[in-house]
Amino acid sequence: MANPDGTSRFRAIGRKSISASIKPRELISDNPDLAGVWKAQVITLFPQAFPGVLGESLTGKALAEGLWQLKPIDLRPYGEGRHKNLDDTPAGGGAGMVIRSDVLGRAIRDAQDAAKGRTPLIYLSPRGKRLDQAIARDLARADGVILICGRFEGVDERVIEHFGITEVSLGDFVLTGGEIAAQALIDAVVRLIPRVLGNADSTEDESFTNGLLEHPQYTKPAVWEGRAIPEVLLSGHHAKIALWRKAMAERLTKERRPDLWRAYCAKAGLDPDEDQEL
Ligand code: SAH
Repeated sequence: MANPDGTSRFRAIGRKSISASIKPRELISDNPDLAGVWKAQVITLFPQAFPGVLGESLTGKALAEGLWQLKPIDLRPYGEGRHKNLDDTPAGGGAGMVIRSDVLGRAIRDAQDAAKGRTPLIYLSPRGKRLDQAIARDLARADGVILICGRFEGVDERVIEHFGITEVSLGDFVLTGGEIAAQALIDAVVRLIPRVLGNADSTEDESFTNGLLEHPQYTKPAVWEGRAIPEVLLSGHHAKIALWRKAMAERLTKERRPDLWRAYCAKAGLDPDEDQEL
């Protein structure tokens, strides 16, 4: 079972714990590639925003231990002229600024030259395919990823076409920049890399892995504000607990996500409109 801060799991499998003196910034390495280690290169105007939250907890420990690598690429030095201009006004007029294709193109080429194996090129963008567990799983099986974080009104369309960039969105809302979306994507991928969570089981029965939302979780105290933990969970009867959890996961999915529920039923050969003896 997941331990909130993960420490005991790390100890349980005999991993060295990282020194408290390591600062998140120092977790980012410009060192030569660690062979075969999944690597995220992130093109951004704000490299100092990395590792950000990825430097905390399990993803931070895994980064320090070299289970994955992170290389923010500062877009600024790729800028044009003495002032290193990155952006300009939109062709055709309108509000805001657009990141130039020549500037971004140079940064992408450098990132691709440094990449090994299968390394998808992704632009975080509200127009993209919605990030989901299937995308995260696919990226975890790749050798790494190159992420482009937009700012302002976005990037010149020609760079997207020229490099055949895939656009991925965090959801139907507009952020100020792609950095938060990039960190969300990296987090979702990195936790699927073997040994990052320190407990393979914990990714096996969580939400989306088996097509269902996760069952409710409880912990101590046994009674809180007059609410008791469901009795079956305290019974020690593992088979009954597993059945209860599956039934709860099915009920939650049916109530909250009819789309997932239909897909789950189709795969399992169930009728989505029939009561599943929940
Ligand atoms: N004018 C653009 C929005 C630009 S927002 C439009 O209407 O589509 C600035 C940058 O923030 C984008 O280039 C993108 O990298 C990032 N961003 C904004 N919303 C996002 C979302 N939902 N998912 C991923 N990235 C997003």
